[in-house]
Amino acid sequence: MKTLINIVWFKRDLRLTDHQPLLRASEDSTPVLLLYFFEPSIMAAHDSDERHWRFVQESLLDMNNALSKMNLQIQAIDGEVIASLEKLVSVFEVKKIFSHQETGNHISYQRDLAVAGFCQQHNIGWHEYPTNGVIRGLKTRKDFTARWLRTMTAPIFSVDWTKLATASLPDNLLKPFDYRFTANSVFQPGGSSAAHRYLKTFLNARHVNYQKHISKPEESRKSCSRLSPYLAWGNVSMKEVYRATLHAMAQSPNKSSLRFFTHRLHWHCHFIQKFESECRMEFENLNRGFDEIRTEIDKKLVDAWENAQTGYPLIDACINCVKTTGYLNFRMRSLLVSFFTHHLWQPWQAGAHFLARQFLDYEPGIHYPQFQMQAGTMGVNTIRIYNPVKQSIDHDPEGNFIRKWLPVLQRIPNTHIHEPWRMTSEEQTLAGITIGVDYPQPIVAIAETARFAREHLWRTKNSVAVQFENKGILKKHTKRKTEKENTLRAPLPAGDTMPLNL
Ligand SMILES: Cc1cc2nc3c(=O)[nH]c(=O)nc-3n(C[C@H](O)[C@H](O)[C@H](O)COP(=O)(O)OP(=O)(O)OC[C@H]3O[C@@H](n4cnc5c(N)ncnc54)[C@H](O)[C@@H]3O)c2cc1C
Repeated sequence: MKTLINIVWFKRDLRLTDHQPLLRASEDSTPVLLLYFFEPSIMAAHDSDERHWRFVQESLLDMNNALSKMNLQIQAIDGEVIASLEKLVSVFEVKKIFSHQETGNHISYQRDLAVAGFCQQHNIGWHEYPTNGVIRGLKTRKDFTARWLRTMTAPIFSVDWTKLATASLPDNLLKPFDYRFTANSVFQPGGSSAAHRYLKTFLNARHVNYQKHISKPEESRKSCSRLSPYLAWGNVSMKEVYRATLHAMAQSPNKSSLRFFTHRLHWHCHFIQKFESECRMEFENLNRGFDEIRTEIDKKLVDAWENAQTGYPLIDACINCVKTTGYLNFRMRSLLVSFFTHHLWQPWQAGAHFLARQFLDYEPGIHYPQFQMQAGTMGVNTIRIYNPVKQSIDHDPEGNFIRKWLPVLQRIPNTHIHEPWRMTSEEQTLAGITIGVDYPQPIVAIAETARFAREHLWRTKNSVAVQFENKGILKKHTKRKTEKENTLRAPLPAGDTMPLNL
């Protein structure tokens, strides 16, 4: 007779605290396997990069370090989920699988459908629990914020580890993952320990200039929370971050910064909810009325953008920075997409995978809706065409960020750092640079490209086709006036203590 087991399947929830699947598995007396699958099909996809898997590896090592004290371990498997489950059911009777719901890309969605089919076929109960404040099957946004607040203030899921009986995996049944990625200290390290450190330093001190620095490419790196990779890979739950923030607010000299921050936390789920409700957004314009514009890809322009060769210093510095470090603040991400879609007039789809590979915090549910919002293809949002020179003057006035990520512009004085092509040949000689040779001339003239984009985008936005689509989009994806973020005022439950021992 086969041994009865349950499985906890870790996905983008790489933590041990506030983890409902783990709690439910611990409440069931059946021995459990704790599994993570490094899936070759997902790792080889166009939106995937080694930086993501190094982060996952670090997260698992961090979890196993904590689990080893309780003689427990998560098994990291190198293999596809269905193929692995087939092997598991050949030696075990799998009773239940516990996991979080995942709002992933098309490949992970198809895989989940296959897992659901497999479970039905093999009489396995797949118990999926909501991730953060995202609601599966939501039809309208009527009371999304109120429900989000209820989730954030509900009890933290806390496992009694003495109750978790583990099963052992027979040798050679599944291929163990070889933990092959070497550390790279330029990136934020993965794992809950690092997540808690970032949260603690942000709440204790770094948040003080949050609002002032949020749009600055250099200063935001310290003044923003930098929690995005930890939330994206689930090293910390949204509920833990939200509650810790409310506790910190009581002591903070800058409460408004932390309140502003809670709105961003809400945005996290608000955007993922859009994608959860309409995942075709990974490939298609949300508003189909935009399907007729920006249909051609100009490979030369795409290459120039990806290789920091546009001739616009802030754009090129941002590309070099995100390639090297995996991080950019929100405004600079918006600027890159705005430049790509509006000034270079490229379809957003031609740039989305490239940036997905660069962002350490790549979260499909935020990435694609944000990309479309900046590209103006949602239909319901205002169209913003950023001027890369103005953004540069406003947010990097001394050119410190530019010089850091474009060393070729090192000796250019502040007067010309935002528009180096305006230097005379004598000024170029003095700065040790020849524009057009050492650094490109601007690849487009932004006054003209902005005019062209504005005209075409607004004409399309006001078209019958876009306005017609907007009705359904407004109903499905936008919050009611009464649900706007100024209603984010949920008191903590009486007697609530700071989660996570920060
Ligand atoms: C084109 C584009 C693509 C993006 N892709 C991603 C992505 O793949 N993953 C991702 O986490 N964020 C993405 N963002 C949103 C945002 O840029 C990052 O969440 C933010 O810069 C992360 O820095 P932080 O953790 O210091 O943020 P903070 O300002 O400290 O905010 C705290 C948290 O709130 C959430 N948040 C903040 N801003 C936003 C926002 N605009 N939309 C949704 N959630 C937000 C994030 O989870 C963030 O970690 C994207 C933005 C754009 C314009």
